[in-house]
Amino acid sequence: MHIYADHAATTPTSPAAVQAMLAAMKDTWGNPSSLHTVGQQAAEALAGARARIAARLGCAPQEVIFTSGGTEADNQALRSAACQGAARGKKHIISTAFEHHAVLHTLDKLAAEGFEITLLPVGEKGLVTPDQLRDALRPDTCLVSIMYANNEIGTIQPIRELGAVCRAAGVVFHTDAVQAVGHLPINVAADNIDMLSLSAHKFGGPRGVGALYARKGLRLEPLLCGGAQERGRRAGTENLPGILGMTAALDEACGAMAEVTARLVPLRDELIAGLSQIPHGALNGDAVQRLPGNVSFCFEGIEGESLLLLLDDKGICASSGSACTSGSLDPSHVLLAIGRVHDVAHGSLRLTLGPDATREEVQYLINAVTDAVACLRGISPVWRDLQSGVRPYILP
Ligand SMILES: *Cc1c(COP(=O)(O)O)cnc(C)c1O
Repeated sequence: MHIYADHAATTPTSPAAVQAMLAAMKDTWGNPSSLHTVGQQAAEALAGARARIAARLGCAPQEVIFTSGGTEADNQALRSAACQGAARGKKHIISTAFEHHAVLHTLDKLAAEGFEITLLPVGEKGLVTPDQLRDALRPDTCLVSIMYANNEIGTIQPIRELGAVCRAAGVVFHTDAVQAVGHLPINVAADNIDMLSLSAHKFGGPRGVGALYARKGLRLEPLLCGGAQERGRRAGTENLPGILGMTAALDEACGAMAEVTARLVPLRDELIAGLSQIPHGALNGDAVQRLPGNVSFCFEGIEGESLLLLLDDKGICASSGSACTSGSLDPSHVLLAIGRVHDVAHGSLRLTLGPDATREEVQYLINAVTDAVACLRGISPVWRDLQSGVRPYILP
């Protein structure tokens, strides 16, 4: 059996997105800035896509700018709010310890430029509370950036309540919603969101394209110097095939969301229940406030990397955390943030199901992971020490 269970890293491009991209490359290949007919056809297609994305987010088309993906949208959101804050003498930013590196590394840069950063702890369930945020706000806070759903452990933050805290304090609220858009119902107005990042390839669109929503009145700082595209906020000839592919994928994902969620949640919970039978392992993050397709575990006495290789041999594509950190020996900052100690964090496994997942696949995953963990423990000196009592178990 072949199972792709790494949808949080990237998703297969949906046939509707491929079709929209092919049509764009064949029929609307013009430059939207050109005044002639071919250019204007492309400009119309671009405007249509913007309106459709805006409708899905619950905002106005002028509030959406297209970017090269989630990373760029995060960078631009944070830089823009920081710049506006600094102009008013406000240089304090609040975020969380388990953000994506696109946010955390941008914050590192801003810290080096003189901003003060508070990273809220996320607790052992991987959740931030409105009270925590309220307590951290200061008169000089210019920005709060909290991810909608975590890419490793799948936990969903109480975004609407967090946004309300920011609104009451008059502080700009950004959310990295890359894992949430197309998977969870989102409305930026109802959810009190001022800025939101999204990326096409996490919901069936192509890689290399995304968008940033910024509420009317918020000034966006361009990251690139060049032409006046995106009303001067994002220079460079628009990636129209990518944008149209993203739009088709988002329409499809949002249209199927209710049905997919209803199907995936029981499968996810079956997978969690099955893997919970493995002794000295534990689910990462809250069991309920989590993405419909996300299952994340730590197993004591094994290396996550070895587990991935064994699973790959059995036809399973999985991840030990985020794709960005695989290959490095540092344990995931997300798992450390929820209190996993280094040894335990190294034995991590993330399985993220796609909309077409089946019960047969879930059963296969449970059996394959159970066998692979037992196999690795059989040859692990750490496991031997745990079993003989030389070291104490950390997970029950
Ligand atoms: C994938 C991801 C990003 C980066 O998006 P790209 O389009 O790959 O640049 C940012 N944040 C989160 C939470 C992600 O999952």
